[in-house]
Amino acid sequence: IDPSVAEEMENFEATFRGFSKRFRLINKIGEGTFSSVYKAEDLLYDHYENKWDIDYKQPASPTHPSSSASSHRHDDISYPARGPKFVAVKKIYVTSSPARIQNELALLHDLTGHPSVVPLITAFRHADQVVAVLPYFKHVDFRGYFRALTIPDVRLYFRSLFAALSHVHAHGIIHRDIKPTNFLYDYRCGRGVLVDFGLAEREGTDSQWCACQNTAVEKRDTRPPTMAGSVGYLKHDSRSSRRANRAGTRGFRAPEVLFKCTHQTTKIDIWSAGVILLTILSRRFPFFNSSDDVDAMIEIATIFGKQKMKQCAALHGCVFETTISTIGERGFTLEKIVLWATNRTATGSSKESKDDQKLPHDEAMAIRFLQKCFELDPAKRMSAEEALGHEFLNTQ
Ligand code: ADP
Ligand code: MG
Repeated sequence: IDPSVAEEMENFEATFRGFSKRFRLINKIGEGTFSSVYKAEDLLYDHYENKWDIDYKQPASPTHPSSSASSHRHDDISYPARGPKFVAVKKIYVTSSPARIQNELALLHDLTGHPSVVPLITAFRHADQVVAVLPYFKHVDFRGYFRALTIPDVRLYFRSLFAALSHVHAHGIIHRDIKPTNFLYDYRCGRGVLVDFGLAEREGTDSQWCACQNTAVEKRDTRPPTMAGSVGYLKHDSRSSRRANRAGTRGFRAPEVLFKCTHQTTKIDIWSAGVILLTILSRRFPFFNSSDDVDAMIEIATIFGKQKMKQCAALHGCVFETTISTIGERGFTLEKIVLWATNRTATGSSKESKDDQKLPHDEAMAIRFLQKCFELDPAKRMSAEEALGHEFLNTQ
């Protein structure tokens, strides 16, 4: 263990009186924008009568957090809730707003009970420091395996991810930050778990806390974008600014997020899941590499073409104009993009070529699935429930 991490873990154990009687911190396993995550062992595990089974189904126990709000104590650390032997201890940074922390814990609590969504075992607080305890999930870094996935592997990955999304969306919750580091997947057993509800929100509650969140995530102009490309923003824009939740990760944001639509739905998660699929099929990570929302729009426009982007902009009361020559009227098919990205075309030019290979049957099916994730109009985009019924996820 790195000495600085060891010191950090000692400080942590010193802050929470009694913590080390129940948990032993093993190592740091994650550090994000909003938290540090440690792997820990539950020292009382062997004393539990009702151990959680391997699927982390909830034992019929009155001490489980879903049936007992009193398990969330403040400074008095009694940690009554049971979990598996190894847990992930998520220390949420004190710079996060109390509303944001409360939101994450409440949503995790409501969603507990699905095998593909991380359950909340317990949470506690000392002064302004809040900690969530989750079951530890063994997983592998996405970049280490995504290029090796076969189509049957990809099918398993997305069955698991869309099962999680369907559960989350059925609760009217938008995750808002679907990306590989928030879906812990073990490709060896085909099991994945959705984590990180730090940016999640209930559908229709957009503006409730996004003002503080926007400052936490990124400070920037929130006027509706009208010009994409080198022409840049208008210098003296007298229009009133438009506020919309833009939380999420660059490259994974749906077009309606980029266009600052104020009525965002669970469909933004479907788009982000599509970006993961495109990454896997094209064997390129990150696939989109924009530095800001205008760049991101240019990237999307390059694929879908001006015509569709203009229609999409109109849906959100925006206008899309560009002088960039690489953005064509019609764009390119996803099949073509995957063939180029994986060097399976002779030319790499946009001209129709007789040498162009076709994708094999199963990959073509994955592309048809991807098209439904990348429907620019969120109302027409496939839902998680529909995805689970799609041929791609149901072929043996
Ligand atoms: P952040 O808001 O900081 O991104 P996350 O909840 O995404 O926090 O956790 C950060 C990282 O910690 C994850 O990408 C993952 O590597 C690791 N992690 C989080 N929860 C777990 C868990 N339950 N089991 C194993 N690793 C986890
Ligand atoms: Mg995360």
